[in-house]
Amino acid sequence: MAKEKQLVYVDSKGKRLDGRKQNELRPIKITAGVIPRADGSAFLEWGQNKVYAAVYGPRECLPKHTASPYKAVIKFNYRMAAFSVPDRKNPRPGRREMEISKVCGDALERAIFVERFPNTQIDITVEIVDADAGSRIAALTAASVACADAGIPMRDMVSGTGVGKAGGKIIVDLDKAEEDAPDAVDVPLAILPNSKEIVLLQLDGVMTQKEWKEAYKAGVEASMEVYEIQKKALKAKFSEKGVEKK
Ligand code: ADP
Repeated sequence: MAKEKQLVYVDSKGKRLDGRKQNELRPIKITAGVIPRADGSAFLEWGQNKVYAAVYGPRECLPKHTASPYKAVIKFNYRMAAFSVPDRKNPRPGRREMEISKVCGDALERAIFVERFPNTQIDITVEIVDADAGSRIAALTAASVACADAGIPMRDMVSGTGVGKAGGKIIVDLDKAEEDAPDAVDVPLAILPNSKEIVLLQLDGVMTQKEWKEAYKAGVEASMEVYEIQKKALKAKFSEKGVEKK
């Protein structure tokens, strides 16, 4: 069998496979309010990832037995389009999508003043139309902007990034090639940027404590960059409508 070519994930100059530095995010572009029918929405491009998020609510909670007399129920639906990955993705929601919907919904619940809207639900649907790793954080980032666009009272945004390791080096925002490295560690991380509270943290792989400290610091710093892009998207939308001029 022919030997597979060994990839250098971070070269001697600190450059990654796509030319990024170790702590550099892929290019991120967010547009708020792209789906006029929805109460709030966003379109996000994060590297090759392309994501739509739409928010409806707070509205009547159906079926009624799912309602809570104490808070709004966040119903987060993460879906990957069949054409979003090279091997056709089975359109039926699988366990991975259910897991991602759960962790993203739980993360957003920390940011939204859910206690102000008892017996209601907030529907958040995220459709991944192109996926290249880091799609759950892309989904959460877009959903957070869409919730703010919907005017839902929030104590903070939710901002995050993937962080981890490939080729023995700590790197921020792994793409698919890096996630597939033999020693890859992938840590999706999301925070409330003002309090730095961690609202999503998952770990796929093994890290030492020292590596984790470095990764965490880099992840928080990169998440703050994402936060600035989210704010910029919202300001662009609302200043366009003249809201800022009032
Ligand atoms: P995340 O997208 O949050 O990093 P995963 O680590 O589970 O989540 O997935 C990494 C990447 O693997 C996805 O972004 C996507 O590019 C690819 N992928 C996930 N599920 C499938 C699938 N069913 N078929 C093909 N590729 C997939």
